[in-house]
Parts: sequence; C-alpha cells; structure tokens
Amino acid sequence: AFWHSHLSRQSDIWKFAEYLPLEKCLPGLLDIVGKVYGVTFREATGSGFFSRLPGGWHTSLKIFEVVDGAPRPAGVKRDPGRGRLGYVYLDLYARRMSMLGQEAVEQPGAASLCPGHAYVSCNMFRPPLGRSKLMNVEEAVALAHELGHAIHMLCHPGSPCDFSDMPLDLIELPSTLVETIVLQPQSLAKYTCHYNSNRPAPESLIRSCQRNQRFFINALQNASVSLGVHAEAFDPFKATPADLRAEAVSLWQRYSLVPADPAFHPFGTDAGVHVSAGGNQVAYLLCYLRVAGILQANNGRKDGDAVWLQPDFPKRIRGQLLDQDFASKGWASRFPAKAGGQLRPHPLPPLPKDTSALLRLEVGSAIESPKPSQFTPHEVARNAGIVIRYGYSTELQTTQKLPSYSRRVFSAMAPSRGPLEEAMKAKLRQMQVARDADLGRLQEQLSANLATVQNRDEELMAAEARLQAWSAEAAQLRTSAQGEAQLRASCERQSAVLRSKLEQASASHSQLETQLRELQTELNEEATAAQRYKDCNSTLEEELKQAQASAAKSAMTCVELEEELLSIRQEEAQTSAACRQQHEASQQYQLEMKQLQEALSSAEHREALLRQNEETAQREKE
Ligand SMILES: [Zn+2]
Repeated sequence: AFWHSHLSRQSDIWKFAEYLPLEKCLPGLLDIVGKVYGVTFREATGSGFFSRLPGGWHTSLKIFEVVDGAPRPAGVKRDPGRGRLGYVYLDLYARRMSMLGQEAVEQPGAASLCPGHAYVSCNMFRPPLGRSKLMNVEEAVALAHELGHAIHMLCHPGSPCDFSDMPLDLIELPSTLVETIVLQPQSLAKYTCHYNSNRPAPESLIRSCQRNQRFFINALQNASVSLGVHAEAFDPFKATPADLRAEAVSLWQRYSLVPADPAFHPFGTDAGVHVSAGGNQVAYLLCYLRVAGILQANNGRKDGDAVWLQPDFPKRIRGQLLDQDFASKGWASRFPAKAGGQLRPHPLPPLPKDTSALLRLEVGSAIESPKPSQFTPHEVARNAGIVIRYGYSTELQTTQKLPSYSRRVFSAMAPSRGPLEEAMKAKLRQMQVARDADLGRLQEQLSANLATVQNRDEELMAAEARLQAWSAEAAQLRTSAQGEAQLRASCERQSAVLRSKLEQASASHSQLETQLRELQTELNEEATAAQRYKDCNSTLEEELKQAQASAAKSAMTCVELEEELLSIRQEEAQTSAACRQQHEASQQYQLEMKQLQEALSSAEHREALLRQNEETAQREKE
C-alpha cells in the first residue's frame, strides 16, 4: 500500500491537501471561475439560522449571488452587462436526511432548480468538529467543474428543459474547461494557500498533481470499452457474461501499456461507470480534446500569456458557448446527423491509425511527473489513432441506444432472472394467503387482548396503591439506610485502623521471622562448632592421659633425683666442712704468710742497712 501510494502519487495528494483549506481557497477558486466566464460571485446571505429561515436552506450551504462582469480590483468600475444572473447554492458537505437516514445527495453534481437558481452539491466529507476542511485536488477540481455547470445554467437563455436536452459533450464542455484551467500551474499558484503558513503550494507539488498521459490513456480505455460494448459488432442479447467480460478486457487492452491480469476486468473502474451511464460518456474525452484545442488556440502568441488570461476570452467563450441557446432547431442544422445527413468531419488534421506509438511509451516515463503542457489529450489521441468526431455523442443519443441499451447489456449478464422472478412471485402469493389467515387470528387475539388490557388497568391501580405504600416504606428505609451508612462509615474507619495495625503486625512478624532465620543459621553454625570442640576434647583427653602417665614417670625420677639431691647435699655439707677447715687453714697460712712477709721486709730493711753500712764503710776506707 505504501509503494502503491507513492507510485500513484497519492502521497503527493495528501501533502497537497495541506495547501487546499476550503475556507481560504474558495475565494481564489471563485475568482478564477469568475475570470474565465466573466462573472462575479458575492456571498448573498449569512449562514446563520435566522438569515436562512425565510429561504429554508440548510445553514451549511453557501449562497452566492452571481453578477455579470468579471471581478475587478477595488475602485475599478465594472461593466454592468446583464446585471444579476442568478444565485448559486453551494452545498459542500454530504448530509444525512434525519427522517430517512439516507444520504441527501449521492454524487457531486449541479442542478438547475429554475431559471436563475443553480444548486451545486459537492458531497465532500465533513471535517472533524473544530477542524477546517482540507480538500484533496480531486475535490477542488470537482468543485470547479460543478461551478462551471452552475454558471452555464445561469447564463443559458433557454428553459431548464432545453438545457438538459443538449448533448453531453456540449453540457460538459464549460465544466471541463474551468476544471482544466484551475488545475494549471499558474492557477494553482494563485489560490493554493497552506492552512497554517498561508504560503502557496511549492512547484514540485503543483507539478505532481498535473494530469499526465496516464490520465488521458485511462480516458481512452474507458471510451474504448464504452464505445466497443455499445457498438454494432457486439450483440448483448447473444453474449454470455463471460463474453461481455472478455470483450471489455480486449477493448481495454487496446490502449494498455501492460498486459491485463487474468483476474482483471475494467468494469470495476471508471469504464464500468461509463458503460452503465451509456456510450455517450465518451463525451468527457471529447471535451478534454476540445478544451485542449481552446486553450492552445493562440499558443503562438508573442506575449506567451495563457489564452484564458486574455481580456477578450470570457466574452468569446460566453458568446460562443454559455450564452447560446442551442435550441433543437438550430442544433439539427449544426449537426446534420440528427436530420439524417452526414456528420461533419473532425476539424483536427486526419489522425493516423497506427497505435504502436502509444504502446511504445515507456511505463517509467508514464509515472514521472510531466512537464506542464507536454502531454495533451490531442497528442495521446493522435498516437492512439482514435477517430472521434464532434457531435459523436449526439449521434449515439439519436440511435436510441441509451439508456435502455445499458439496461439490456446488464440484463444479458443475468440470464436466470426470469424463472427466479416467477418463483419469487409464487412465493409472494403464498405469503399473502398465509398473511390473510394470520390477520383473522390476530384480530381475535386483539379483542382478547383488549379485555386483558382492562384487567391490567385495574391491576395497575392496585399496583399504584402498593407502589405508594412502598415509597413510604422506602422513605423510612432510606432514613434507616442513612444511619446504616454512618455505621458502615465508622466500621470502615475502624477496619482501616485495624488493617493498618495488621499491616504493621505482619511487617514486624516478617522482621521477627527473618531474625529467627538468622538465629537458626547461627545456632547451626554453633552446633557444628560444638561438634568440632567435642572432637578436639576427646583427642585432648587422650593427650592428657599420656601426659599423666609421663607425669607419673617423671614423679618417680623426681624422687630418685631428690634422693640424689640429699646425698649431694650431705656431700656438700661434708665438703663445706672441709672447706671451712681449709679456710681456717688458709687463714692461718695467711697469718703465717704475713709474719713471713713482715720477716722478709725486716730482713730487706736489715739488708738495706747493711748495704748502707758497707757503703759508709767503703767511703771511710777511701
Ligand atoms: Zn460534469
């Protein structure tokens, strides 16, 4: 769907809608329509309820007074012309009739109510509440198209009957012309206006919505199917639905760039609408051709201005087309076919029969946006080799093929309708008989029911009395209910308090539980530790026993040692006594020593004295 929307340029259409807010674009659009046909639109009455009350029009309608003379800038005097031409009643949105629940109008269209009053229904989707309406390009083009019809109706000098008697290619020409003009880039640049920023649409978007050759090829295919199915070569009375379908596909295929899918048939598209509406629908293709002829008439002009912008354009188009009363007499002289004569040849150069030029068009170039006015319907028709003469749709109308012909085409598609209809009628008759019998029974029931209704009335009175008693009770109950409600409120308050307490308790409970769990784990650890201690204890006991044994041994050795010690002490005492004797002996010895030393020193002293005596004796000898 995403790529389809890109290829079919729907995404551009959505973007473009932002530049087509209805309320802002409508004045510009009316200005362009006015310039093309030399008329001016003035909003006639407000849309308030009271201003609409006298006319009875719905408040969503816009009513415009249409005055002769093209719109002029302020201060420039207008040509009075024919003065007021009439009123246009612009019914923008689809509405539902409240009584029937059906759409009030189904398709966009214009209708002449009476001379001077044209009703235009656009049947657009209403925007969501509080939003402004954004049109898509098709809606804007349809609006311009129907306004073209409306102006044609107001300008037409004949009666509404004369108007509707005109051939379709003449009726559709003014609307197709203005539709083509509002779609031109220079027109779009004038009336498009972004809903938010008020800027005109960018050139790329404007180019994206231009009609390319695909549009005209599509029109050709529709015309081909419509004309071919209505042609002499195809007999709808002998054809089966499969024949009709195969014929339509082959007619469509003549102008197709791609082979038709086996599941495809063209009746699901515009071609189906054309076939059901009649062969004269080829008038739309004719109108595109003629409009291209009109708009390119003076293409070689030096100023290069568009034809429709030339000051004398509205006067010419009005004089030649809109203001003409193509009364039946004049019409017959214009188109001798109606009088039994020959058709006038097509005013265009003779067209080639070779369709290969069209089929050579590449699919890629068909999708790219065309350069403005590069592809014209003439070019496409010339390439396609289609030969269409002006007044062709008139000829089709005069052959009395329409609209009964279309009806016969479709009745050919449902051959089993006759027996079905008979069966339906028989069934209907049976149903009527059964219904008459039912009716008698129902009347008896009705009288019985009437009696019961009277009984019911009495019951109803009793019930009313009961109801009053009940209502008194109900009042009492209500007062008691109030007390109950108070009680309930206090109960609720208490229960809330209890609930909060309960919550606290449960919280503390959970805390305790966690603590308990922690304690249990600690206890387990301690138990394991105790086990370990017990094991250690037994080993220690064994060690203790060994130690005690060794202690006993050591006690024995201790006693021995003590005995030894005692003997040693005795020895010691003996030795100490010996020592003391020796000490005394040594003291004696020392005394002896001192005496000896004293004797020695006195001997030394005597020796010294001797020496002195010797010395003295020596000296005395000398
Ligand atoms: Zn139309």
